[in-house]
Amino acid sequence: MNSCCVQPVEVIAADQHKSDENCCLIVEKTLAPTRAECPVSRTLSRKVQRRTLEHLLKPDKLDSLRNVQYYYCKEPTCNVVYFSNENAPFFSTDEAAVKVFVKDQGDDVPVCYCFNWTRARIKQQIRETEKSTAAIEIAREIKAGNCACDIKNPKGECCLGDINLFVKEVLAHMPERRSE
Ligand SMILES: [Zn+2]
Repeated sequence: MNSCCVQPVEVIAADQHKSDENCCLIVEKTLAPTRAECPVSRTLSRKVQRRTLEHLLKPDKLDSLRNVQYYYCKEPTCNVVYFSNENAPFFSTDEAAVKVFVKDQGDDVPVCYCFNWTRARIKQQIRETEKSTAAIEIAREIKAGNCACDIKNPKGECCLGDINLFVKEVLAHMPERRSE
């Protein structure tokens, strides 16, 4: 098995473990196009596995799931989370069982859904220690086989790209340290 999650922790933490930009947890192979345009924002969106929707839609929305290929819209200002370019209703942020990181700027929103690194937790650690251990801790868990981003993260994929960007952003906005 070509498994990205067995790479060295440092490689995983840097989000450089995936080959073909696909995580080893992406196992559903379908013939549908790799990308499709969101019907609302026109954002080019990536395929998402059916299991992601099965776990992350509110239970009463599961009846609306159709046997089609779904895509995940990553546009921050668009309320569509999952859509299909076949004849099926789309699912909005209200219909997702969790808050979607990219579409909800709240501090209580997870960046990493598997190990519960919320924006608040990352910010707090950086305030207290001036650095973040989120990426390396997540990488260790991934390597230990404890990650389930395919069913816990709304985008259905590894969070480390988001983690690293968010950490960078928080560090960049930290008040200047007094060095003298
Ligand atoms: Zn959209």
